[in-house]
Amino acid sequence: MLDRYKILFDEVKIGPVTAPNRFFAVPHATGYAWNQPSGAIAIRAMKAEGGWGTVAVQITEISPDSDFANHPMERIWDDTDILRHAKGVEQIKKHGSLSAIELGHGGMRARNILSGSPVIGPSALPILKPEVPVQSKMMDLSDIKIFREKHKNAVKRSVKAGYDIIYVYAAHDLSILSHFLSIRTNQRSDEYGGSFSNRLRLLREVLEDALEIVEGKQAIALRFSVSEPEKSIGIRHDGEGRDVIEALAELPDLWDVNISGWPMDSSTSRFSKEGFQLEFTDFVKNITSKPVVGVGRFTSPDTMASLIKKNKLDFIGGARPSIADPFLPKKIYENKIDLIRECIGCNICVSMDGYGLPIRCTQNPTISEEWRRKWHPEIVSKTKKTQDSFLIIGSGPSGLECARVLLKAGHKVTIAEAEKESGGRIVKEASLPGLGEWIRVRDYRMNEINQNSNSEIYYSSRLSSSDIKNFEADNIIFATGSYWRRDGVGSSNPHSFSLDHFNLYTPDDIFENNLEIKSRAPVIVYDDDHFYMASVIAEKLALDGYKVTYATPLASVATWTGLTLEQDKIINKLNSLNIQFKVNCKLNLNGKFINTLSRDIEDFNTENIIFVGARLQNDELYNQAKEKMNNKNIFSTGDCVAPGMIQAAVLSGHTVARSIIEGDKDGFFLRDQIERFEFN
Ligand code: ADP
Ligand code: SF4
Repeated sequence: MLDRYKILFDEVKIGPVTAPNRFFAVPHATGYAWNQPSGAIAIRAMKAEGGWGTVAVQITEISPDSDFANHPMERIWDDTDILRHAKGVEQIKKHGSLSAIELGHGGMRARNILSGSPVIGPSALPILKPEVPVQSKMMDLSDIKIFREKHKNAVKRSVKAGYDIIYVYAAHDLSILSHFLSIRTNQRSDEYGGSFSNRLRLLREVLEDALEIVEGKQAIALRFSVSEPEKSIGIRHDGEGRDVIEALAELPDLWDVNISGWPMDSSTSRFSKEGFQLEFTDFVKNITSKPVVGVGRFTSPDTMASLIKKNKLDFIGGARPSIADPFLPKKIYENKIDLIRECIGCNICVSMDGYGLPIRCTQNPTISEEWRRKWHPEIVSKTKKTQDSFLIIGSGPSGLECARVLLKAGHKVTIAEAEKESGGRIVKEASLPGLGEWIRVRDYRMNEINQNSNSEIYYSSRLSSSDIKNFEADNIIFATGSYWRRDGVGSSNPHSFSLDHFNLYTPDDIFENNLEIKSRAPVIVYDDDHFYMASVIAEKLALDGYKVTYATPLASVATWTGLTLEQDKIINKLNSLNIQFKVNCKLNLNGKFINTLSRDIEDFNTENIIFVGARLQNDELYNQAKEKMNNKNIFSTGDCVAPGMIQAAVLSGHTVARSIIEGDKDGFFLRDQIERFEFN
């Protein structure tokens, strides 16, 4: 380990327990909940194995009246839940890490569709994220007493399960305690409403209850969002956020501080860079003598060490960095800094919570597969004794991931890339405004590949079918990617039609610098893809001086970015660049724009259009090879099979390599419930 990083491996006392180092894997959604515990336990165990000195469980509902419905959370509703938690604790502790549980009650963010209980909160109001038309019941004093009892019981169960640290949760606007604190949601006039100290009362009481129960044997942490920068009426780090820290400064054993809501806390790299929360949170250390953990998508060990040295934080908190690389601490310890798989801040992990599914990660294809497929992020078993040779055509995310894994298993890999550099779509997309960090997808993989003496890579080598035929390799893997369609086919339209009357471009033309449009000219960016691409191209063109209109057949802008928590930020950004919006505006089969509500034809007075629709797989070479070379093992991977997200291309590359090495399992994986199901 380099001397300058030693400070990151100091032991730190948290009340009665001691963390072995300063790496703190903070609570985050895993998509695995109480009903699929093995997957969630394995994610956390992997972080402990990778050196995170403290590993926390995500929000754990304390009772049925905090039912987050389709967002899979943990539960500790009654004693039957204890065994599951105890097994998780054991898996964390066996690696020498501390285990933490984040007890929570969703208050006015719960939905209670499953439990059927009334949603409860400080006031009678529509619930806070009204995906369902439900209102909360205003809790009376006896309801508050019952809630405190439930919280106390959850603390007792957490102690029984063996946790070292028990969280009281008042963050992200996802907690009843935040709802009592905020004047947005607390409209009471009794001793729990009105003045700041009244609104703080329940949080203080719950903290004191928890401390009383653990009797100094476990640590009590308080997770608190010190600021709500996006809310017009909200907690501010220089207002009531600071007042809370001052009022409760020495009460918890640990402060875990961040900003709220979730789109602010988990801001993407397109909008926020490493350390983005510090301007809000770094005052906390000046107020309390208790240790402080903070987050900010930290992946650079220099930044981490400097934050500790400057007394800004005691622990480096990581949710996304610990997902992207569960072995980040160990790699710093073993001085393998260039092999850290840095989070790129894309929020594909976050999007899975919206679906209620186990997390996926662009950088770490093994996340969520630790238990059910037995995939380890750092180890590939060498089940085949012989060393095979592989030719991989294409060095985009799928080709590079496939190469990296095959090399790890001891095979020989030659990569042929048509372009002058590796990376495929990553290089192109990382050149767009705000997406620079995405290049890490390539860089991490190239670092691993370059360090392996069994690898060779040839640039400017566009292979033809006859080149491939003559190549001496036992196996050929096609990772030749995809290209953007120019024929009108997109998400809302499966039929191709002519766009010849337009001065037509696609994202590929933007990447190739093919635009021949006079500066300041009007341009329509037509989004029938609905993820980030059209919005980021609109942003680029506006920055380049064009007069841009963003048009889409859907009713909202870049619809799918709602799941990556970026949609509002994208709209604000495009607004700030004077980009015009046209929603419900569809290109019909005559190549005319039509308003899908009024049926009126829209005329934009320009022929310049960037059509962002569907993509086509670049699989011609693969199909030819399959026909002509039946003496070789031929595979395809990534966008050349089916165009999708970068995350999907990486996962595809990984899956193809694993199935070659470990034997094809035809997509099957272990399942918790079904295998242990007993009907009685
Ligand atoms: P994926 O997302 O599936 O990894 P990409 O589009 O990012 O796909 O990458 C595909 C890569 O394949 C690109 O870098 C492209 O230059 C390369 N490629 C495509 N056809 C050939 C070919 N015939 N020979 C060599 N490289 C190719
Ligand atoms: Fe980071 Fe993206 Fe992975 Fe999430 S999905 S951890 S944001 S790289």
